[in-house]
Amino acid sequence: MPFIGFDPTFVLMIPALAFAFWAQWKVKSTYSKFAQVPAANGLSGRDMARAIMQRNAVEGVNIEQVGGTLSDHYDPGAHMVRLSSDIYSGNSIAAIAVAAHEVGHVLQHQQGYVPLQLRSSFAPAAGLGSSLAMPLFFIGLIFGPRMPFSGVLMDLGILFFAGAVLFHFVTLPVEFDASKRALRQLTESGAVMPQEVAGAKQVLDAAALTYVAAAAMAALQLLRLVLLRGNRR
Ligand SMILES: [Zn+2]
Repeated sequence: MPFIGFDPTFVLMIPALAFAFWAQWKVKSTYSKFAQVPAANGLSGRDMARAIMQRNAVEGVNIEQVGGTLSDHYDPGAHMVRLSSDIYSGNSIAAIAVAAHEVGHVLQHQQGYVPLQLRSSFAPAAGLGSSLAMPLFFIGLIFGPRMPFSGVLMDLGILFFAGAVLFHFVTLPVEFDASKRALRQLTESGAVMPQEVAGAKQVLDAAALTYVAAAAMAALQLLRLVLLRGNRR
């Protein structure tokens, strides 16, 4: 009987884990580098976010401060951009890059960008699926033929996990596009110098890597489940 979390198929995960650790390191080091470089315009992340929304005639979206580090996000349901305190009141290149990225999501929402709609409507089901997938699969795997329907449990686990993998892959274009919009806005606003936009791009590219790593890890995890499932009944 294989151990939960460690069996020969675990080897599959090693490259993805290495990539994920590297991406984490990359985002942390790039962020902390540009968190120390003040933007010449002196705007805080909040000011920058507000300025971009004004430029694009966005109405009814507010900006508030939220606890935690890099907990920044746009909540489409609440029409609220939430920025962590370093981003909200900071005026570094990193702060305006992250703030502009979140407003990138606001612009996606305003313009009915389809991948964002897909991602939002898919999120609750994907969350439930990913929390149920592993318990179902491993209960089926451990009890095996001694329990009726263990094969069905494993198949359900795989199906739920496949939903979660799909969610990771829908997230990628949404995140890439938000960063693209952010950089375009920073450039077009004229409030940020070209070399500063280049710094902002480095911060956002590093952040994008972590999403790629998460998607790769999920895809390999799915492959691992399929291999473990094999032709067990
Ligand atoms: Zn984002």
